[in-house]
Amino acid sequence: MPRDPKQKSIDSHALRPESLMMSYGFDPRLSEGALKCPIFQNSTFVFESAEAGKAFFELAYGLREAGPGEEPGLIYSRLNNPDLEILEDRLTLWDEAEAAITFESGMAAIATSLLAYCRPGDVLIHSEPLYGGSEYLVTNVLPEFGIDTIGFQAGIPAAELAPVLTEKVGGRPVRAALIETPANPTNDIVDIQGMSDLIHGMTGGGDQRPVVMVDNTFLGPLWQHPLDHGADMVLYSATKFIGGHSDLIAGACLGSTETLHPIRVLRTFMGTMTGPWTGWLLMRSLETLKMRMTAAMKNARYVADFLDDHPKVTSVHYLGLIRENDPMFEVYRHQCVGPGSLIAFEVKDGEAGAFRFLNALQLVKLAVSLGGTESLAEHPGTMTHADVPPDDQARMGLSPSMVRLSVGVEHYSDILADLEQALEAV
Ligand SMILES: *Cc1c(COP(=O)(O)O)cnc(C)c1O
Repeated sequence: MPRDPKQKSIDSHALRPESLMMSYGFDPRLSEGALKCPIFQNSTFVFESAEAGKAFFELAYGLREAGPGEEPGLIYSRLNNPDLEILEDRLTLWDEAEAAITFESGMAAIATSLLAYCRPGDVLIHSEPLYGGSEYLVTNVLPEFGIDTIGFQAGIPAAELAPVLTEKVGGRPVRAALIETPANPTNDIVDIQGMSDLIHGMTGGGDQRPVVMVDNTFLGPLWQHPLDHGADMVLYSATKFIGGHSDLIAGACLGSTETLHPIRVLRTFMGTMTGPWTGWLLMRSLETLKMRMTAAMKNARYVADFLDDHPKVTSVHYLGLIRENDPMFEVYRHQCVGPGSLIAFEVKDGEAGAFRFLNALQLVKLAVSLGGTESLAEHPGTMTHADVPPDDQARMGLSPSMVRLSVGVEHYSDILADLEQALEAV
């Protein structure tokens, strides 16, 4: 001290994200020497002078460029707040993004991003299956605003998808794409680079480049970095791994300052930003993110192997079990840093068998959501994906006997003991 709170190295030694997560972006001198960033539970901020207030608004409303070293001033918590700004700085670190903006939910991040880019008459491409809420948004809500949404199946190589998708688009300009990989709940993967290259070419002859957005909730921000594979933006439900304790709802999007600009503007006017308390909780959570995700992934390996060997389990969908002869094996190897901690598996006796298993669990809780410290199990067909018609579920590989398991950080042998006794009920 004194040092720049955004310093990322000691001399020439670059610091890793997990080391920066406790301090990056926060200057204790601005908060009475507090070690931790306080909760700035404020709606509004006092200007030192009328001139200062005028200067802050000029920057906030883009009336002029920032001068050398000029930082945006604090105005009002719908526009900015220290807990949000410091959180956003820290969120850029794992994905090495230029900028991040946070939202009060993952759906707020996704909806605000899509509405910022798509206009009536535009085409939006999306992978299938999607998280239930995103699925509803693209199939029911956006078409009412005149946005034509076209889906493609996850788990199929980009070269195979290209002719069908190109025909469906029919030369119209594509405005944006929403890709979720691995897909929820099937764990099928999408080739981010291959699909980004294809979609970026779908300008309809115009000069507007389609914005490729990747929902990275399942593997990110540790085990997959879509910005390195051709995507323009990363979306998160921060409710899941980033929050990690099943005690808050939040979302984020990451990308270049320029790509995020229209989304940031719409966030201000739709009021979908995170509150200071949620922002503070997320900073608390980011400090242990790597430890939690690593512990959960180690447990998931034991669980996947156990399920794979179990006579009452008919199939296991886990990235760690992807076989070399799988057409997506090379994509997985190239695109993912690790297999994560989400497992889908099928038991005998269809929905009845799945329900008997879920009802018998004791340590693992029967609840939707994922990425928390505790293990959770649910039945996608009748719960998270209940609004997907049965024919579409079948097409997406979502069977009535499928259970989705989010493996937590408990001792792995306790999780296995619970699964073992619950499978006896099947
Ligand atoms: C949970 C989830 C969302 C939605 O996030 P909320 O925080 O619940 O609004 C979006 N995408 C994926 C993959 C999710 O798991």
